[in-house]
Amino acid sequence: MSDHPLRNSPSLDAFWMPFTANRQFKAAPRLLVSAEGMHYTADDGRTVLDGTAGLWCVNAGHGRRGIAAAVERQLATLDFAPTFQMGHPIAFEFAERLAEIAPGGLDRVFFTNSGSESVDTALKIALAYQRAIGQGTRTRLIGRERGYHGVGFGGISVGGIVSNRRVFPQLPGADHLRHTHDPARNAFVKGQPEYGAELADDLERLVALHGAETIAACIVEPVSGSTGVLIPPKGYLERLRALCTKHGILLIFDEVITGFGRLGAPFATDFLGVRPDLVASAKGLTNGTVPMGAVFASRAVHDGLMNGPEGIELFHGYTYSGHPVACAAGIATLDIYREEGLLTRAAAVSDDWASAIHDLRGRKAVIDIRTIGLIAGIELESRPDAPGKRAYDVFVDCFQRGLLVRVTGDIIALSPPLIIEQGHIAEIAEILGAAIDRAA
Ligand code: PMP
Repeated sequence: MSDHPLRNSPSLDAFWMPFTANRQFKAAPRLLVSAEGMHYTADDGRTVLDGTAGLWCVNAGHGRRGIAAAVERQLATLDFAPTFQMGHPIAFEFAERLAEIAPGGLDRVFFTNSGSESVDTALKIALAYQRAIGQGTRTRLIGRERGYHGVGFGGISVGGIVSNRRVFPQLPGADHLRHTHDPARNAFVKGQPEYGAELADDLERLVALHGAETIAACIVEPVSGSTGVLIPPKGYLERLRALCTKHGILLIFDEVITGFGRLGAPFATDFLGVRPDLVASAKGLTNGTVPMGAVFASRAVHDGLMNGPEGIELFHGYTYSGHPVACAAGIATLDIYREEGLLTRAAAVSDDWASAIHDLRGRKAVIDIRTIGLIAGIELESRPDAPGKRAYDVFVDCFQRGLLVRVTGDIIALSPPLIIEQGHIAEIAEILGAAIDRAA
């Protein structure tokens, strides 16, 4: 039993925490009770610098009054109304606002409630579209090793995290490209690595294996975050795009973390100059305040479904698709992004960010550092007796000393709010460097 002050009031027992070793956490809980700007406050009163924008989502920083006010107004005006065979203006307004900044011009918007739902929605749109245009044999979906696409059955099937898949059945026919991480050729790179564009040709191999006429779509994260910050080699996504086009395969970008300014442009699509057919998004869509996701579709995909032969456009949707309160939060978020120039701000600070983080090179046990936009991955050498322990120790140490980071395996991931200032960057590097030294 922990003697933590909240241990008995409230009890920590009932909440079955997601993606958490519940017993370990509840024996020594870390609780956040408030947040403002770049900082959280822990339940013992300590200030904790948010190095992860919550979970890659609080891009405009915490405690934004404009969002709170918009949510309150919306709750008092129209708390809920359906969007099945009914509508309400704010959902149309939010979709129109999103269409103005649509990734790669994909300006048809389908609302969901999370990243996982956006992924599964995008996969279903791809399957339905292929069928609507007379390509109904295309039922196979291609993902990538070390990809993370949320936890729906579609997402885990195309995802490349074995532990998330192991005990669950998969969608039939899902297959995977190899991942692009190659530390032997690309270590300590700022931005996109030089080597590895040819790995996109894996799609050609899967086409040869299965037949193009069986493949509906290929989904990748432009930059993988949750699996340890894997940045696409120069030319890789361009090559994947060309192969998808050649074989009639739809290309889906999962921009759940890269969307809304993370790289220095509104979307990775814009930043990297490669246009997919569908984009899945969530997180920064509402600055993490109200759960919401959105799928952006090209007009070709949208119109292909509208004009389909079966008399129904898409048998899919959620009670809360376009929830008015989420839309209000989203519009207020877009206002902040626009007024403060946040969707391109990462571009202005990413050189300083990369320099500060890459300065950690040379610390004991640091075997790679990868940065792009306002993202960083720092890979530590795994202890053979305890893989993942070193990075976990860094995470706990950082939290105790006032910095929130993420860990996955022995990789530390950082993705601070886009409002970050020089002083915060220096503070992150300092706390992290000391923690890495201690863990080594
Ligand atoms: N896709 C990617 C690339 C993600 O990073 C995440 C969440 N980290 C998801 C999908 C799933 O999003 P959610 O947790 O909102 O379902």
